[in-house]
Amino acid sequence: MGDGKHSLAQFAAGKLAALEASSLRRGLTVTSRGPAGAATRGGRALVSFCCNDYLGLSQHPAVKQAAAAALAQYGAGSGASRLVTGNHPLYEALEAALARIKGTEAACVFGSGYLANLGIVPAFAGAGDLILADELSHASMHAGIVASRAEAHFFAHNDAADCRRLLEAHRGGARHCIVMTEGVFSMDGDRAPLAALADLADEFDAWLMTDDAHGLGVLGGGRGSAAEAGVAGRVALQMGTLSKAVGSYGGYLCAARPAIELLASRARSLVYSTALPPASVAASYAALDLIEQGGALVAAPLARARRFTAALNLPEAESPIVPLIVGDPARALAASSALEQAGFLVTAIRPPTVPAGTARLRFTFAADHAEADIDRLVTAVRGLDLAGA
Ligand SMILES: *Cc1c(COP(=O)(O)O)cnc(C)c1O
Repeated sequence: MGDGKHSLAQFAAGKLAALEASSLRRGLTVTSRGPAGAATRGGRALVSFCCNDYLGLSQHPAVKQAAAAALAQYGAGSGASRLVTGNHPLYEALEAALARIKGTEAACVFGSGYLANLGIVPAFAGAGDLILADELSHASMHAGIVASRAEAHFFAHNDAADCRRLLEAHRGGARHCIVMTEGVFSMDGDRAPLAALADLADEFDAWLMTDDAHGLGVLGGGRGSAAEAGVAGRVALQMGTLSKAVGSYGGYLCAARPAIELLASRARSLVYSTALPPASVAASYAALDLIEQGGALVAAPLARARRFTAALNLPEAESPIVPLIVGDPARALAASSALEQAGFLVTAIRPPTVPAGTARLRFTFAADHAEADIDRLVTAVRGLDLAGA
């Protein structure tokens, strides 16, 4: 078995060779992390500008303390799905905090942001329904859309007029309609036109759903992109992750109470997947407490990103995410390794994560980055050979 022309190993090796030839092969590199962007890779100390830990809360003493206490009290794992015995007491407090921050009646926590999108979309849409989504929507949103079996169309990025065109063409024949977008786009750092999309949702009797993976903790005084855009009460489905600015792990949906209660019966990724480890839930709760205090902490990532964009004459950052598009995947890899030589970890982002021809460096800025490190990064980026970028 397995030695013939069609062996599994040969199939995979052939795929890997093709990916390698087009600079699209990916791999895992052991990297450990510490406070203030510290990262260690291959024995070298680097400063990471590619983590989504925007507030440094994964390293915050109060967050680590909360996780340690929950670990000691409840153990390492949760033992079962939340529907069985995994719904330990920490979940209630966390969900109440999320609903409060997002201004909704209720919230539900999932195992991850990916699992949240995978479960949410089919819970509210199916055959006979319509989904319109921004063309740059995250892979997990696509996974949810496919699982839902609803009719789906994609509007041009951040183009509310194109969304209207699709609504005019397709809304009539569908029972329910969901309009989906990221609040802050994960690979571009720009913000969705949420007020315009909320108007369209009203006009065409659709539910607006935002994936605010990169908005919570950094926009709207920490409450996220809907609060920033002044439409928090108009986004029916506010989804997000606990794995980025919250510094822990998990995903969530904030919505009206009946919608949240329906998830326990209909969201398969909630029902059929084991609950989060108690330590992760406790860490998220402690982190949200810090986020709710708002102030200088939540303002810092955007300010740092703007220090970077101003120094390099780039368009002013709209979020802590700053892309530098270089086009060709091989050039993106070369620029990333040049920065690594200079002591900075900045991952090259290549297709299919981003559209063909838009490979890029993706810089992310965090509250605990030292300004001196940002200034050294600026110098290193200026030294890159990015002519024609
Ligand atoms: C990271 C991300 C997710 C997935 O969240 P995880 O908690 O990491 O699974 C979903 N949507 C967007 C836009 C993201 O950037």
